[in-house]
Amino acid sequence: MIRGLIFDLDNTLVDSRLDFDAMRREMGIPADTPILESLERLSLEDAARCREILHRHELAGAARAILLPGVEGLWTEVERRGLRSAIVTRNSLPVAQATLEKVGLTVELLLTRDCGPTKPDPWPIRTTCEQWSLEPAEVVVIGDYRFDIECGRAAGARTVLLTHCGTPHLYPNDEEADLVLSSLAEFPRLLAWIDGLGS
Ligand SMILES: [Mg+2]
Repeated sequence: MIRGLIFDLDNTLVDSRLDFDAMRREMGIPADTPILESLERLSLEDAARCREILHRHELAGAARAILLPGVEGLWTEVERRGLRSAIVTRNSLPVAQATLEKVGLTVELLLTRDCGPTKPDPWPIRTTCEQWSLEPAEVVVIGDYRFDIECGRAAGARTVLLTHCGTPHLYPNDEEADLVLSSLAEFPRLLAWIDGLGS
């Protein structure tokens, strides 16, 4: 039986129009490489410069963030059903908090890259489960990127991939997701799937 939902933030719950390619260009790091991991390989000086670029983009994203379709409806159902809810994001704590404040969303637990190892590491999922005293099999990780699926699976949770306009095969690990939805606008399908998993 599913008792908790763990959401990615950007492009899952909110649209903050973060342009990761523009960030990479400005930082001078190769396309298609994960930004946080790239920064760890730079000199201290370069990494500091890139962190400033990242923070500026993320802060601007928080200021323009809007809730994605379906999130309000899903939140009502989450509360009605007494499901636990958490957000696990590679964004920073101050920016994630500013984003949630901007869109007026409250969540029980928020784990960011400032809290510990970040996705695709399963640490934030395991930590959430420990805090809730739940088994990973009792939670669902929901996100729009391969790291969301990878960290959920590595922790032993069920996973839901949101493809937005893309088709699932564009995502390297789509076949590993337990459910594929276009977005949370399809939340009734998500809830029906959860109900189908039974107790
Ligand atoms: Mg995302």
